[in-house]
Amino acid sequence: MPGTRSARTRWIASVGAVVTAAALLTGAHTAGAAPVPGTGPGAGEAHVVEYFDGPGGTPRHTTVPAEVPASIARHRTSGPAPGGAAVTPVQRTGPVSGRLDLVIMGDGYTAAQQADFHADAQATLDHVFAIEPYASYRGLFNIWLVDAVSAESGVSGDPTAGVVRNTALSSYFFCEETERLLCLDTSKVTAYADRAPASDIVFVIANSAKYGGAGYSFPTPPDGATYHGVATMSSDNPQSYLIGAHELGHSIGNLADEYQYAGFGAYPYPSSESANISVTPELGTSKWYRWLGEQDPTGSVIGTYEGGDYYETGVYRPTSTSLMRTLASTDFNHVGREAMIKGFYTYADALTSTVPTGTRVRPGQPIGVRLAPVTGLSGLKVTWYVDGKQIARATGDTSVTPARLGATRSGQRVTATVTDTTAAVRDPAVRAATSNSLTWRVR
Ligand SMILES: [Zn+2]
Repeated sequence: MPGTRSARTRWIASVGAVVTAAALLTGAHTAGAAPVPGTGPGAGEAHVVEYFDGPGGTPRHTTVPAEVPASIARHRTSGPAPGGAAVTPVQRTGPVSGRLDLVIMGDGYTAAQQADFHADAQATLDHVFAIEPYASYRGLFNIWLVDAVSAESGVSGDPTAGVVRNTALSSYFFCEETERLLCLDTSKVTAYADRAPASDIVFVIANSAKYGGAGYSFPTPPDGATYHGVATMSSDNPQSYLIGAHELGHSIGNLADEYQYAGFGAYPYPSSESANISVTPELGTSKWYRWLGEQDPTGSVIGTYEGGDYYETGVYRPTSTSLMRTLASTDFNHVGREAMIKGFYTYADALTSTVPTGTRVRPGQPIGVRLAPVTGLSGLKVTWYVDGKQIARATGDTSVTPARLGATRSGQRVTATVTDTTAAVRDPAVRAATSNSLTWRVR
């Protein structure tokens, strides 16, 4: 996603979310005053992570040390070094600069178990990409598997806290003495992620049937990495994939958590940067006023439900429940879907061409454009312009010549624009964010 249009804005917003979580833990309420965790390795550094105490259970945040415990970290994998790890493209729908690159690696899989890892990764993908809007927008992703070979099968802390296994990424349950919190060595994740052509988001699948996982958010990628989020989950627990689906809600959609903690009381901030949290209870002025009254995929009618972003009062969410509130729900609400679609297009462009935009094209030269293979909710529409004037008869064409559009003079500009007409987007600003253009000049 290098050079994305609004990634900077989004990650600044995400800093707020992470600092909020950190502030909760220290009792401070001054957003921006707490250090931003997870910006690089080093003694004493910590990551803020989110975990879930059981299938459909209560989500929690905590800080974990960047360093794994010495008893686990001293093991070194006996498999190939990360630099020699095999990479398998699961799907490659476009150039890495125009796609959201998801990297999946396993931990606790021996050399003889790499086929198991591939099967487990595929099953996780099948589950996550059955959820909307991932399902409709899978075509905006490149997906890469990286084989991390472990000396031993399974991960540390499974089934009990004292169990130590020698694995490639040092994954361990009972992180910070929390049974369901599945931590790992992010510097090892980075070493393997670097094997993929690009990595925006990483899933780590631990070879285990024990329920657990963690979501690491990186407002700026850790040292040497390009990814912004790592979600850990176990392979053989049927509910663990929901951890990955939820965590991508944060890292792609910049969505806030829609749950609250008992005893947290009133919302201490004047506003929220997240699309799914509003401090305004009046129905007509909530951020999601365009969706009010709609029946929602999560089962409720969209309104303003009090409680969210960890606080109990003075803050509102769009629906009674959702995947951002509890993993007992397997759907984003309409507001979350719209934010996710905006996030997809922040990383990815639906329009590409094999004709470089920096070169001049002859009037009779064909210009072909390609649309990302999105489906379902999505609807891509191509429009063409000459010197900024729309050529209506060419709408929908994926191959034109400048001459056919009436552009025969040297220096005239031919532009192709694609916009997603999906009904899952109602905010004109989000609609604009789905759009991208390519322009050529006539030779
Ligand atoms: Zn969360």
